[in-house]
Amino acid sequence: MNYSGTLQQVMESYSTVKENTIEGRYLHLDHIRPLLEKHSKVFRTKEIGRSVLGKPIHRVEFGTGEIKVLVWSQMHGNETTTTKAVFDLLNAACLLKNDFVLSTILSRCKIRIIPMLNPDGAKAYTRVNAKQVDLNRDAQELKEPESILLRSEFDDFKPDFCLNLHDQRTIFSAGKVAKPATLSFLTPAMDKARALRPERKKSMQIIAGIYKNLQEVLPGNIGRYDDAYNINCTGDTFQTAGVPTILFEAGHAPGDYKREKVREYVYAAMVSALYAIASGNFHDFNYLTYTRIPQNEKLFNDIILKNVLINNQLRDISIQYKEKLESGNIEFVPIIEKIAPEITNYAHRIIDGKDKIIEFPEVAEVGENVIVNKIVLNGEIIGLKCE
Ligand SMILES: [Zn+2]
Repeated sequence: MNYSGTLQQVMESYSTVKENTIEGRYLHLDHIRPLLEKHSKVFRTKEIGRSVLGKPIHRVEFGTGEIKVLVWSQMHGNETTTTKAVFDLLNAACLLKNDFVLSTILSRCKIRIIPMLNPDGAKAYTRVNAKQVDLNRDAQELKEPESILLRSEFDDFKPDFCLNLHDQRTIFSAGKVAKPATLSFLTPAMDKARALRPERKKSMQIIAGIYKNLQEVLPGNIGRYDDAYNINCTGDTFQTAGVPTILFEAGHAPGDYKREKVREYVYAAMVSALYAIASGNFHDFNYLTYTRIPQNEKLFNDIILKNVLINNQLRDISIQYKEKLESGNIEFVPIIEKIAPEITNYAHRIIDGKDKIIEFPEVAEVGENVIVNKIVLNGEIIGLKCE
C-alpha cells in the first residue's frame, strides 16, 4: 500500500508489529492481559484503578521526551478497533525503536495510553459502562469511576495533546457520495461559537497531516465529524481546558466487518499524528485543509435489495446488521430497516432483484425490524449473514 512520505517506511513493516494474538470485534480484559504483562517488562505499566464491577484499568507509558500525549481507547466497550491498533503501536515502540520515525516519537514524546477505559462494557460488548452510563457524556458530572480515572490521569499527567479513540457505525459516508467513512476525525469545539483558537488550530493541523499522509490509501474515505459543542463529551472538555484533542473514529472498509484493515489505517493515522507532534511538522500543514475534509453523512446501509417484487409491488429493502455477542463471538444479524418504493441510500452490498419475486423463508411476516438471514430471489437462495 502506498502511504506517503515518512509514513511509507513505517507501514512497510506493519506485518512485523501487528499484534497477532488479538483480532476481530470482541476484545475484553482477558484478551489484553497477557499483552499488558508482556509490555510491563519494557514499559511503565500501572493499574490506575477499577471499573464499576471491580475490573482493573491500566495505563502503559513509554517515551523519554518532553511532549506529553494522553491516549485512551475503548471508553465505549464495543469499540475495539483502536485498541488493536494501540497494541500494534506498543509493539512498534519495541521493535522499531531504532527506526527514524519511531525513534523521533520516543525521544521527543512521553506517551501515556489507557488501552481499555471501560472493561465492563468491553466484556458485555456494550457502548456504556456497567451502570449503563455513556462515559463520553460524563466529562462534567464525573459520576462514574472510569470517567473519574480518566480525568485524574488528565490532571496528573497534564498532557500537551490528547488522542481520543473510537469506532463508528457502518452507516457513515465521507461526504454525500458513495464512499464509506473508513476513518473520521474531529477536533472538538472549545465553545458554543466553535471558535478557532490556537489550540484548536493545532489539532486541525495534525488532522490535516493525517489526511494528506493517508490520501493515497484512503482516497475519499476520510470524513470529518460534526463539531457541535457538547461540554459533557470528554474531547470537548479537554479541548476547552486548552489541550489540543483529536477524536479518531475507526469506520468501515469494504468487506472488513472484522475491522482488521481499518485497524492498520488507525495505526497509520496514530503514527502520523505522533510523528507530527514529535517533529513539530504539523506547523507545515494549513489548518484550513481540515475544513475541506468531507463531512460525515449517514448515507450507507449494510445491504440494499433493489427492485424486488413483494405482493405484486416493486420495492427496495434496506438491511442493517445488528451486532450481537453470541458465545464469545460477535454475530452480525441482518435486520430489515425499511421497505419502500425507492431507497436512495448507498450500500456496502447491493443485490439487484431485477423485478423478480422475493421470498423470505423462516419469516412469518415480512416487515421492518424483522430478522432475515436469507432470501429466495427468483428461486435462488441468497444468504444475508455476514461471514
Ligand atoms: Zn465511541
